Amino acid sequence: MTALRDTLLRRIAATGPISIADYMTECLLHPEHGYYTTRDPLGADGDFTTAPEISQMFGELMGLALAQAWLDQGASSPFILAEPGPGRGTLMADMLRATARVPGFHDALRLHLVEASPSLRAAQAERLPGATWHDRLDQIPDDLPLFLVANEFFDALPIRQFIRDGAGWRERVVGREEDRLVFGLTAPVPLAELEPRLDDTRDGDMIETSPALPALVGEIGGRIARNGGAALIVDYGGRGTTGDSFQAVRGHQKVDPLSEPGQADLTAHVDFDALARAASPAACAGPVPQGVFLERLGITARAQALASRLSGAALDAHVAAHRRLTHPEEMGDLFKVAAIHPRTAPPPPGTET
Ligand code: SAH
Repeated sequence: MTALRDTLLRRIAATGPISIADYMTECLLHPEHGYYTTRDPLGADGDFTTAPEISQMFGELMGLALAQAWLDQGASSPFILAEPGPGRGTLMADMLRATARVPGFHDALRLHLVEASPSLRAAQAERLPGATWHDRLDQIPDDLPLFLVANEFFDALPIRQFIRDGAGWRERVVGREEDRLVFGLTAPVPLAELEPRLDDTRDGDMIETSPALPALVGEIGGRIARNGGAALIVDYGGRGTTGDSFQAVRGHQKVDPLSEPGQADLTAHVDFDALARAASPAACAGPVPQGVFLERLGITARAQALASRLSGAALDAHVAAHRRLTHPEEMGDLFKVAAIHPRTAPPPPGTET
């Protein structure tokens, strides 16, 4: 039995079942036993991999798209370059390398990272000297244009799940049965904040909400509307929520989300409609499929240029990485790219809808 399961079982015995959001927060961020707080989960030897870990091309093109948005808005100096959830720092390191020859960009940028995990902060510090770290996004200084990237950050935010029952909702919760964690449902209650969803759901449908998303995205959108800037947000999901997307991954395999608390990555799909609403008064472009975004930015030409210097196994791996990032049956369709930008400036290239 894991120490975290013990803690959760005791808490549930004392105060009753907890929401999926509380369960996710404990599993991912518990100070001693949390999944992110205790380890580096990324890469081939870890539990899952991400686009920047698959190929340098992802970060290069993200960097150039953001630099173009910076040029489009008059190349303001200084400005804040920010990333929440930078993982190993790979995406930002690739972005910085690709933008080294954009005149003035490096001199003007002030790098701010938001990271909850001490072990990942250490990994980021090795690759991104000179950055400033924060626990929360709203701690980043708020007096300069904000250019921000986030890849697979929003899918780690805690979600709540509700099942429609007549005009009310039953919340899916985590309870206990002897020494096991089990899913349960509350009694149905009408919920004012879910009233709009009575129009597009039927009895028995499940919907998901992300309680932290509106404030986080509102913070980003508010700053971009006031100070200028742009945000590129990449994650899996779509427009609206459809059913149960709560999942656990360990060792590159899907596992039962309740079986190993703190030992598996827990995620849910991102609702890009909710994200666009929360970005107001800034504008939101997209979401466009990741494969379409990367093709628009010229990933195939970049892939060919890199391929000309490779052979054998390295070439095979490079070709596979290009396919993995862009092909609709791989990450190309499931992952989406949305951009937050001022209403008075064009969206970053590749995100136009
Ligand atoms: N963007 C990276 C890593 C994605 S994994 C990549 O693409 O490879 C999710 C990242 O978000 C990790 O760095 C994790 O520690 C961080 N994270 C998750 N929840 C967080 C929170 N509430 N606050 C700050 N960082 C968080």
